[in-house]
Amino acid sequence: MPVQQVTVLGATGSIGQSTLDVVARHPERYQVFALTSHSRVDALGELCLRFRPSHAVVATGEDAGRLQSRLRAAGCPTEVWHGPAALVEVAEHARVDVVMAAIVGAAGLLPALAAAGAGKRVLLANKEALVMSGALFMDAVVSGGATLLPIDSEHNAIFQCLPAGSRCGALPTGVERILLTASGGPFRTWTPEALRAATPEQAVRHPKWSMGRKISVDSATLMNKGLELIEACWLFGVSPAAVQVVVHPESIVHSLVQYVDGSTLAQLGNPDMRTPIALGLAWPERIPAGVAPLDLFATASLHFEAPDEIRFPCLRLAREAMAAGGCAPAVLNAANEVAVAAFLDGKLRFTDIPAVIEQTLTELPMMAADGLPTILEADREAREQATRLLGLMR
Ligand code: NAD
Ligand code: MG
Repeated sequence: MPVQQVTVLGATGSIGQSTLDVVARHPERYQVFALTSHSRVDALGELCLRFRPSHAVVATGEDAGRLQSRLRAAGCPTEVWHGPAALVEVAEHARVDVVMAAIVGAAGLLPALAAAGAGKRVLLANKEALVMSGALFMDAVVSGGATLLPIDSEHNAIFQCLPAGSRCGALPTGVERILLTASGGPFRTWTPEALRAATPEQAVRHPKWSMGRKISVDSATLMNKGLELIEACWLFGVSPAAVQVVVHPESIVHSLVQYVDGSTLAQLGNPDMRTPIALGLAWPERIPAGVAPLDLFATASLHFEAPDEIRFPCLRLAREAMAAGGCAPAVLNAANEVAVAAFLDGKLRFTDIPAVIEQTLTELPMMAADGLPTILEADREAREQATRLLGLMR
């Protein structure tokens, strides 16, 4: 097989770094075509010197100029571009085979859609893109002839538990239910009073996974599981009723699929994103990922419990948004992004995150998700509304 050209969107993030770790283990299979970063320009510069991609993308022209001079001075051939259109360009470029969509939040939607529309192998970590644009995204995968591989560990596990030859978009016959595991986050056992006083530092200290700040807060509120519930519905063609969330604090069982004959298949492994990333890169083959094999004697026991939707209302809000349909998931996602940013900034209580989201969903008129412009408009309006609500809550 010829060497695969890889674009890593969000290369400086947690998933981006894990991706480059796996890619670097297999130089005979993968070459980096483009790397992107929003603001960590120096870190991106280091990655360019190491991987020597054709292109790098940053947010502003000023940053691009600075990075370009630095790379030229070091004899690095990388051409530096900037802005959202450049993200799309490196995602759909004719020379690219594989796109890792690992930008966090709605900012990753357009390049992820472009990669799908251009028929790439799309490694989807950016769940927010799918939550916002579900039907549209899955249509782009089909019409573009893309190969969609879920990188979220749970969805990757589910994908691995489906019959060989399964593709994203339609659930094979014989599947009864998907069991989506959740760590429960750092506040799983906290009282409502303690939750009210939870700080950003406490929220981003996840017990099992090392991740970016936004998804770490999402894990603490259980919105991450809510977004993943919506993600599972689109990826596997099921209704929310066919997905059961199971809290599993050890984060060893990454999800399960139940079949009509009474079989339940699970995928297990140490909590390390390099496993799903390696599967996404090489599927249907398997390649080493640098992950230690699971030691069941050291693990010793596994626990499972039902989620508490009273202390963690975000899971309910996500299920309701998916049931409402249209642009409701995009509104949920946008309000969550605004609320989480405010919480990380010390401007909103942890327990007010779901309040901002629920209020935003209640106050915005329901819109059908009848195309990208409508979805982007819903995202914009939800951000405005959520920001207004933040002002009232202080
Ligand atoms: P992160 O914060 O560590 O990295 C985010 C990346 O996106 C960075 O490279 C940043 O430069 C880039 N970025 C941020 N804002 C941008 C913007 N406006 N325009 C362009 N680029 C921008 O996040 P992460 O933990 O790596 O998560 C990335 C995505 O993967 C998220 O959607 C997250 O939900 C998903 N995910 C992450 C994990 C994990 O273990 N970290 C697991 C499953 C899914
Ligand atoms: Mg996950």
